[in-house]
Amino acid sequence: MTAMPADRGPTDRVPVAGPSVTDLEIGYVVEAARGAWYGGAGSFVRRFEAAFAGAVGRQRATALPSCTAGLHLALAALGVGPGDEVIVPDTTWIATVAPVCYLGAEPVFADVDPDTWCIRADAVAACRSERTRAVIAVDLYGGMPDMAALEAELGGAVPIVEDAAEAVGSRIGDRSAGSFGVASAFSFHGSKTVTTGEGGMVLTDDDALWERMLVLRDHGRSPGDTSFRNGEIGFKYKMSDLQAAFGLGQIERLDELVQLKRKIFGWYRDRLAGRDDLRLNAEPAGTTNSYWMVTVVLDDAPPLDRLRAALTADGIDNRPVFPPLSSLPAFAGTAVGRVAKERNSVAYALGSSGINLPSALSIDEADVDRACAALDRALGR
Ligand SMILES: *Cc1c(COP(=O)(O)O)cnc(C)c1O
Repeated sequence: MTAMPADRGPTDRVPVAGPSVTDLEIGYVVEAARGAWYGGAGSFVRRFEAAFAGAVGRQRATALPSCTAGLHLALAALGVGPGDEVIVPDTTWIATVAPVCYLGAEPVFADVDPDTWCIRADAVAACRSERTRAVIAVDLYGGMPDMAALEAELGGAVPIVEDAAEAVGSRIGDRSAGSFGVASAFSFHGSKTVTTGEGGMVLTDDDALWERMLVLRDHGRSPGDTSFRNGEIGFKYKMSDLQAAFGLGQIERLDELVQLKRKIFGWYRDRLAGRDDLRLNAEPAGTTNSYWMVTVVLDDAPPLDRLRAALTADGIDNRPVFPPLSSLPAFAGTAVGRVAKERNSVAYALGSSGINLPSALSIDEADVDRACAALDRALGR
């Protein structure tokens, strides 16, 4: 099965993100377009959910329009609402925190680990209060937090929700990303390792929580209801069979996709090994990093805007590491934003010294040669 050139789109630049697409996914989508309607509706969604639950090692998986929806459902089903605080890492995509705000709860931004760039147990301890109702642990760029330390800190008193959007295929020991906490959510946005264009999945082993999420995601009605007598106002969060068919092909190729990500990271590691002025994604002993985004953190960081512009001018797409959430205009003026800025030195240092390099599944070794040569030129060394 060969990847089709179409999965790169019309560009001669080296893409920072993007999928691997084969005839397998396309064949399933054609099958869904022909038959997954009315009596056949939901057939590909069920196959995708079952395959995904199996791959992650969780009992229940529900396909959704996005990971944001998954986090929203998990927090809503846990009863998070006004007056509650939810601790989130300061370094992450805004989708981690937006659902906290949708529910009227207050986010509290915790600092991250200097090696994994993920939320740190002692930083969570510093953020806890009587109002803490949940902690969202994010698997950043394919790396994972020290989950054992986090679980020890919380002692089961506060539930963890795992935002595994960026980490399909990562592991701690033999446990997959997405198998931690009371619930977890994945993203299938077009930039992610497994994609459906747009899409997401929420997973749990807790049947009561799962059943609550199923009601909340379908306008407040129970699965199978045909009476249209809705008991409450919920949300409308579903995935279509057309997307699920694509996702089924992708998840059947999961091992191949993760191996490809790891191979791409290896090309960078080999070429950048000689540079002692930068650090790459960490893979602590006993863990497996699926390296969603190859990331370099520069010790004596030049102004990132200039570095990024030089790479872009050389045809090398790139992205800045997420700026701390607490620094965003959405939060910077708030009390929690100001407190976090004082406290979260690691997140702030990362935000001014880290960039993501081309990590699309369609790139080859020559592209990585080009990217590393451009980085050497841009750093002037
Ligand atoms: C991509 C991403 C999300 C959001 O995924 P959507 O499917 O776009 O809602 C959430 N959290 C993290 C860490 C992400 O990278």
